Parts: sequence; C-alpha cells; structure tokens
Amino acid sequence: MTSISPDRRGFDSALDPSAEQIRDMVAHAVDWVAAYHDSVRDLPIAPRTSAAGLKDLLAEPLPVEGRDFADLLRVFREVVVPGTRHNGHPRFFGYVSAPGTAVAAVADLLASTLNANLTAWRSAPAPAELEHVVIDWIKEALGCDPGAGGLLTSGGSMANFTALAAARHRHCGDTVATHGMAAHPAPLRVYASTETHHSIHKAAALLGIGRTNVREIQVDAHFRMDVDALVRTIEEDRIAGAEPFCVVANAGTVVTGAVDPLADIAAVARGYGLWMHVDACYGGFARLAPSTRPLFDGLSEADSIALDPHKWLYLPADCGCLIYRDPEAARPAFSLDADYTRVMQTEPAEAFAFWDYGPDLSRRFRALKVWMTLAHAGSRAVGDAIESNIDCARHLAELIDGSDDFELLAPVELSIFCFRYLPPSAQAGSRSQTDEEQLDRLNERIMAVLQQGGSSYLSNATINGRFALRGCVLNYRTTRHDMQILLDDVRRAAEQVAEETHP
Ligand SMILES: *Cc1c(COP(=O)(O)O)cnc(C)c1O
Repeated sequence: MTSISPDRRGFDSALDPSAEQIRDMVAHAVDWVAAYHDSVRDLPIAPRTSAAGLKDLLAEPLPVEGRDFADLLRVFREVVVPGTRHNGHPRFFGYVSAPGTAVAAVADLLASTLNANLTAWRSAPAPAELEHVVIDWIKEALGCDPGAGGLLTSGGSMANFTALAAARHRHCGDTVATHGMAAHPAPLRVYASTETHHSIHKAAALLGIGRTNVREIQVDAHFRMDVDALVRTIEEDRIAGAEPFCVVANAGTVVTGAVDPLADIAAVARGYGLWMHVDACYGGFARLAPSTRPLFDGLSEADSIALDPHKWLYLPADCGCLIYRDPEAARPAFSLDADYTRVMQTEPAEAFAFWDYGPDLSRRFRALKVWMTLAHAGSRAVGDAIESNIDCARHLAELIDGSDDFELLAPVELSIFCFRYLPPSAQAGSRSQTDEEQLDRLNERIMAVLQQGGSSYLSNATINGRFALRGCVLNYRTTRHDMQILLDDVRRAAEQVAEETHP
C-alpha cells in the first residue's frame, strides 16, 4: 500500500495514490457500504457510548507520519460505526431524519472526486446546469411557476436564513446593507405561528431583526396558524409604528406536521405587501403524495420556500434548498462586486452565479446526489414512499385510538405522531394536575428506556403543556408492521419503568 511508483510526481502515495491503490481503498470501503445498507435494520438504533469512552479510542496528537488506509477503515468500522445512531433504521422515528439512499452515497463519492466548485456557471458548467435541472424538478414537485428559481443550501436553517435576508433587503434596501440596522428608522416585524422552527428566530437574531420581532401567532386545534389573529397582529403593529415585512408560513411543522392555510396567508401577505416565506423543510415533498397534495394549495404564491432534500427526499445530509418565486427580487441582497468574481460571459445563462442568490461562494456539488436519486428512483417511487410513510403514521393513530393504554395528543397531519402511554390507573376518569405531571414523568422515563433498548426510537415534544412521545416516519424502509413493533416496544419499556418504580 505504501510503495511509490517511480513514474509519479506526487509528494507521497497517501496524497496522490496510484489508480490501483485507489481501487483497493474504494473496494474495501464499498464492501462496507453494501453490507451496511443490507444490515442497518438489524443494528441497535442508538449507541451505548460516552464522550470519555470515545475520546479514549479516538483522541491522539496530530499524526506526523501517515498510516495505512486499512487501519483507518478499521477505526471507522470498529469505533465510528458502533458509536453513532443509525438514522437509516426503519424504527428510528426521532426528530426529522432521513435514512439516506445508496445511490446518493455513490453520488457523493463521485461529486467529491470531481470536486466541482459551484460558485458560478463558468466554474463548473455542467454541474451548474445539473443544479438548475434539479431545482426545476423540485419546482415541478411543488407546483411552482416556471419563472421561479433557486439553489441548494447546506440545510433548512440556511435556507430560512437566506430567505429572511432576501426579504429584509427587499424591505430595507441598500441602506441597511451599507450602514446596518441602526440606519433603519423603525423595528421590523416577522410573523410566524407559535409552532415555527427555531431557525426562524435564529435567522432574525443573526440578521439584526431581533428575536422579539418575530411575532408568534396563535394556532387552531390542528396547530395551524390562526389567520384572523395574524391580521389583528399586523394591524396592531402598524398602529404602534413597527414595520411588518415578512410572514413565515409552515408547510409541515416540526412538532406535529401541521400545514398552515397557505392560500389564506398568501392573500394576507399580498394585502399588506409582506414577503411570504414558507418553511417547507419537513413537509414540502409531501406534495408528491396524492392524499396530502391539496394541503399545499397556495404554496406557489410564496416569495420563497425552504426545503430539505435531506429529509423527505431521503437524501443523506447535507442538502437544503431555497426556491424564490422571482429570483431577481432576491439578487440585490447577495450580489457582490469584486475583481475575483467579475463575470466576463455575456450569455446570461453563462454569466449566472450562485453567489448572487445566497451567502455562499464555494459550494459543493450537492446537485449530483439529488439528480441521481430522483432520476434513478423516479418521482412516482418517491411519492409512493412518502404516501406509505404517511400511511404508517395514520395506521399508528388507528392502533392508538383502538387501544386503552395509549392516547394520541395531536392530530396526524403528515407523518408525525404525538402520543403517550397511559398506565391502568390513568385510563378511566378525570385527571388532576398531579396526575398529568405524573404522566409527564412516566412518559419521559419510557422514552429514555425505549431509546436505550435499541429496537425503536422516539423523541419528545410538548403538546399543550404535556410531555409527548413524538415520532416522524421518514424512511422508505418503514412498514405498518414497524408501527405495531413500536407500540409493543413502548409497552415493554413501560413495564420496565413500572418494575423500576415498584420492584
Ligand atoms: C429540519 C427543519 C428545519 C431546519 O433544517 P436543517 O436542515 O436541520 O437546518 C427548519 N424547519 C423545519 C420545519 C424543519 O423540519
């Protein structure tokens, strides 16, 4: 492995290996890749490990001399793999987490090998065109107008941040870009429901808008924004001298999967001249599933839409996406003038630069894994898988409704479910505040035991002040049978907690 062929000019074979050495490295790595995809459903979902234990195995001073790739692959297999959570497991229901696809993993290897840098068309013409193609496909999946455009980002938080930056710039113009927020005469206001992801608040903080200027609008029993309350709040703010400039609607909240009434919010945004941004990071691709498609009516009216292909397109991290209804409305917020970015091309498509539409300059070739996954699977298979994920969540809701020992805490809108376990003592009659607090503690304990068990994994949420076991089905491997196994696993965890409490 370490021999240097005399006809090569590299510093060292580790930095510049021969084709044969590369084949050897990749062959061993690919053996692992294939075996992993084959066995992920049988692995314990979450590792039993500690920071101290991992540091013992991994920490070392900067290696001065290199070592064989085989040795590194061994550390990967023996320490890294068992030391992480397996997000591809069919009963990993925590957070909003995709399993990854095999073809995307291959695409990432190819993209890193080609090492295209998608700053602008001229730097990587075909990769840039491929990014336009996948943006067009995503637009089609969402029902966007042909004039819309956008770009891939590191994730949904970055897409939300970028959208708010574009919205702020449209409202404030160059004054704020040049002199800072202090140059703006009045406080800005963003509107979003109480269920909105914290990345919106973070963006407001980072952009100098301020977290308290994100006005949280109450929701209805389905956790959808109350549009009358939105209008009242905008009116109040205007009278008080604040400047409403943006409304953020959710297309799939992270807690319960609620989709706000998009068409109604679009009408309000139009009426008050607000930039409408839709956070569709979790839910947007559910427009490909026939049963939930009508929820997305009005989506195409948004000025911007944030999405996460590394969620419901099943892609491995990282890959977010931002679509602008009118990309030219966003451009003044980002375009810059510097010698090294001056574009010489005269053909507009060839003068195109991604840096004009977001904060990044260097950008990796994320489009390849999006393109390969969509073109290899086809949108029908992806839509079927999404529909099946939604069906699993609805099936779980039916199982819960048909049982005495579980209670659903929020309606199932897409593929997120929130519920809790009820011990026999809590199954009948009314409950006092103390009973409710006991249920919170019991279910919190159940979640911890479940996570340690390794067969099913749920995270948590607070629903109307109560502790909920929360899951999200976002994996093409998950079946209805897994939902039954999940409930059995929760019951087993509850028994274990009961034994701990009353041995
Ligand atoms: C996941 C998520 C985000 C943040 O996306 P990242 O890719 O994790 O940065 C924002 N909003 C919603 C609704 C999400 O589900």
